[in-house]
Amino acid sequence: MHILISNDDGYTAPGLEALVASLRNLAEVTVVAPEINHSGASNSLTLTRPLAVRHAANGFIYVNGTPSDCVHVALTGLLDRRPDLVVSGINNGANMGDDTLYSGTVAAASEGYLFGIPAIAFSLVSKSWSNLDAAVAQAHRLVAHQLAQPVTGPVLLNVNFPDLPAAQVKGVAATRLGKRHPSQPVVRSATPYGETVYWIGPAGAANDASEGTDFDAIKRGFVSVTPLRLDLTQHAQLSQMTDWVRPLCE
Ligand code: MN
Repeated sequence: MHILISNDDGYTAPGLEALVASLRNLAEVTVVAPEINHSGASNSLTLTRPLAVRHAANGFIYVNGTPSDCVHVALTGLLDRRPDLVVSGINNGANMGDDTLYSGTVAAASEGYLFGIPAIAFSLVSKSWSNLDAAVAQAHRLVAHQLAQPVTGPVLLNVNFPDLPAAQVKGVAATRLGKRHPSQPVVRSATPYGETVYWIGPAGAANDASEGTDFDAIKRGFVSVTPLRLDLTQHAQLSQMTDWVRPLCE
C-alpha cells in the first residue's frame, strides 16, 4: 500500500508532518508538497516555467509550485509507481462550503481524483494547531477505514475536523457542502513607496449552515466527511438549455 501526501500550507507545515508520521504504520508514504504556502491556489498548474523538485533532509519532496503541480508531477513521472491513495493536509483552517473551490488542500486531492486515484482532503477548522493531535487521530481512523473498506465509485472526500480535543469530538458525520456569505471587503493599505494595495478579505460567515451541511456538523462537534465531484454541469438546467439554444440554430 502506497499513499501520496501533499498539502497547500507547504512542506514544513505542522499539519503535514503530523499526518505523515501517523500514516506511516498504514502504508508506505511519499510526500510531495509545495515549497511555500499556496493556500487559496485552487487547481492552478504552473505552465510558464519549469518546476524544481528537491529532497528535504526528512525525506519529504518539495516543489516550487502549487499543490496541483506537486500531485501532477508526482503522478506523471516523478513516482515510479502509482499510489493507492492521495491524501492532502492536514490544512490549517476550514475548507467548507464554497471554500472547496478556492482551496489548495482540496485541489491536491482532486488532482489525484482526476487521475482515477481515491483521494481525501483533510482540514482542521482552526488557525491554531492546538487540537492537531485529535485531528491526526481521526484522519488515521478515516484512512484506515478507506483502505480496509473502500468507498465505491470515484472517491474524493472533503474532511473537516472540529477544533476540539479528542475526548470532545462527538463522532463522524456524512455531510453536504454548505454555503458562505460573500467574502468580506478587500482591505486597502499603502506600501512604503506610496502605492495603494489591496488585501483579499477573509471568507464570509456561513450562510447555509442548515442541518446536513459541513458547517452544521462542525458546529455540533462532529468530523465532517463530504463526498465531492468535479463535474460542474448544472444537470437540472440541461433540458431548459436545450430549448434555449434552439432559436440560435435557426
Ligand atoms: Mn492552507
